[in-house]
Amino acid sequence: MKIRSGGHDYEGVSYVSDVPFFILICSTFVQSMSVLKMRLHGFKLEQLLVKFLQNCRENLSTVGVGGHFSGGGYGNMMRKYGLSVDNIIDAQIIDVNGRILDRASMGEDLFWAITGGGGSSFGVVLAYKIKLVRVPSTVTVFRVTRTYEQNLTNIVYSYQQVADKLPEEIFVRMTLGVVNSSVRTGEKTNIATFLTLFLGDSEKLLPHE
Ligand SMILES: Cc1cc2nc3c(=O)[nH]c(=O)nc-3n(C[C@H](O)[C@H](O)[C@H](O)COP(=O)(O)OP(=O)(O)OC[C@H]3O[C@@H](n4cnc5c(N)ncnc54)[C@H](O)[C@@H]3O)c2cc1C
Repeated sequence: MKIRSGGHDYEGVSYVSDVPFFILICSTFVQSMSVLKMRLHGFKLEQLLVKFLQNCRENLSTVGVGGHFSGGGYGNMMRKYGLSVDNIIDAQIIDVNGRILDRASMGEDLFWAITGGGGSSFGVVLAYKIKLVRVPSTVTVFRVTRTYEQNLTNIVYSYQQVADKLPEEIFVRMTLGVVNSSVRTGEKTNIATFLTLFLGDSEKLLPHE
């Protein structure tokens, strides 16, 4: 049996096998989000959450929580709030004997395993109970690229000196790549891309320049 949520496993382990198999598609469970709703205390918050979930379905990627949460889950707010799994407070799993277990009945070792160790090695995760975090109404996002000809070496070096010292509201993700040079025709050059999310408006961000 293969367990699949979003189907985005990089190695295809949720849909590839050397022997005949069937797939349990969990993405239909995800549509309900009942675990999240159970945590709500006020009507307004519920409305907000329903809107948020609709928005998720319409605008976000198709990566599934089944694989994302059980594998750890990094994101652009992780400097301030940790990984996805740092915000999971309970889970439900069905084990090989058909028992439905929550955190208390599965024990801390199994809970630890399905919040970072990969869910399918241990059973089928039916639900995660997560703690939502508060995001400011205004955030600042930008993307900057610099090539070798644009002083990439010094900029990357400087980034490495400050990356871990910036306030935790600032997340700067740097990736390195190769592109066609715009200066030397027919040649390649290195490029660094800086993707940034700041939990606040640009006026608060600029003093950190
Ligand atoms: C476009 C894209 C963007 C991504 N961005 C990020 C990112 O920003 N941060 C990040 O951390 N990762 C990211 N990833 C990686 C992604 O989180 C992992 O590949 C994740 O495992 C995908 O989960 P899935 O449910 O979509 O995949 P699936 O292929 O459905 O599942 C992945 C693994 O989890 C198991 N599994 C799925 N559901 C369950 C369940 N209910 N119970 C038990 N086991 C289960 C599967 O059997 C398989 O082993 C990205 C991947 C892609 C393709």
